[in-house]
Amino acid sequence: MSSIQQTIESAFAAIDQRAEDLVALSKSVLEDAESGYREHRTAKKIDTWMLKSGLSPRTEVALTGVVAKADTGRPGPNVAVIGELDSLIVPGHPNAHPATGAAHACGHHAQVGSMLAVLTAVLEPSVWSELSGSVTFMAVPAEEYIELEFRQQLRADEEIEFFGGKQEFVRLGEFDDVDMAMLTHTMGGEPGVTISGQHNGMIGKTAEFRGVAAHAGAAPHEGVNALNAANIALSAIHANRETFRDADYVRVHPIITHGGDVVSAVPSRVNIETYIRASSIDAMIDGATKVDRALRAGAMAVGGEVEVRTTPGYMPSRYDPVAIDIYRKHAERIFGTENVRTSGQRASSSDAGDLSMLMPTIHPWVQCSTGKVHGADYVVQDYDMAVVRAGKAMAATVIELLANDAAEGKKVVKSFRPEMSKERYLAQLRELRSEKVYAG
Ligand SMILES: [Zn+2]
Repeated sequence: MSSIQQTIESAFAAIDQRAEDLVALSKSVLEDAESGYREHRTAKKIDTWMLKSGLSPRTEVALTGVVAKADTGRPGPNVAVIGELDSLIVPGHPNAHPATGAAHACGHHAQVGSMLAVLTAVLEPSVWSELSGSVTFMAVPAEEYIELEFRQQLRADEEIEFFGGKQEFVRLGEFDDVDMAMLTHTMGGEPGVTISGQHNGMIGKTAEFRGVAAHAGAAPHEGVNALNAANIALSAIHANRETFRDADYVRVHPIITHGGDVVSAVPSRVNIETYIRASSIDAMIDGATKVDRALRAGAMAVGGEVEVRTTPGYMPSRYDPVAIDIYRKHAERIFGTENVRTSGQRASSSDAGDLSMLMPTIHPWVQCSTGKVHGADYVVQDYDMAVVRAGKAMAATVIELLANDAAEGKKVVKSFRPEMSKERYLAQLRELRSEKVYAG
């Protein structure tokens, strides 16, 4: 057995010893779910664990984040191991919070466990003494891009600038000294691991159509119908779908959040929210331009007005093939070669995509749950997969990156070409933000 393999075996033994505690912690997060930028109780649990492990975590990073850096004192890259703190809001989920409806219908509670499994593994003295560089453990808020009004308020209060927690971490400089990043998501499907798939990026939009209220029976000719404006806009969005290239994986999925006030009056205010998702920034912007045109057309057609607010969403991902290959090797040993799968483009989005623009990033999915992701029936079934083995696969990857004077880690860092600098990235997000009023 090579010395790296011996170190990995010691790391696995350390995880096995704490497996019950790691799973119990994940389940306690599941049973007390909190949505993005509200994860105070969840953060406290992680802070406590890290303190007991001998680290000195910083708390309230981007409101609720917890960060602890462990430095070997020997030169080498700094690897961030991430767990997302936030839940969705899915009333009717078996573990939904009775008051808020917050529920882990995306399995982030297990990410907390797999991150702390890596912490348990690498801090084992016989492992730690073999490593160079550092490992930074990050519990990051707000991956789910939801509760937009709440986040707009946080932004107005200057508590945050961006809606995604990793975006805020980048803005605050938390990733300035980080050289690579990893996290493991849960998902459904045949038990195993899926790697390599890239995420779409996305842009968020809200539109408020304004018209004039009037008696809907006696005097509709005196009104301007904001619902008709919105209907035309939605049809115009659909009319643009044939211009979306298959290769760009464009998804535009609007909802009406306010459709009128009383049935006896011409609707004077109608609100729409939508995402525009695509696999490249250019395609995201192209789609967003067409959506703007369609929103405007609706208002113009009836002589109303529309206010369009655009908010930066997430970047499309470019997960790093070199780091993925290292992870794959360990995942095949842990899950079985036949259970490690490669996926194509994913039409969903994550702010892990943002990190992948800036540094080598991997984002594997462990299949360990049943039900529809983001649905009321999404339940993590196999915690040995979700927490213990997911943690082992990341721990083995970290060890390979940082053992032997961090030779492999340095290779990964050297071969990586960032899509953009941090400054360009923040500028790109800010360029995507706008508020415009079009009057007909
Ligand atoms: Zn998720």
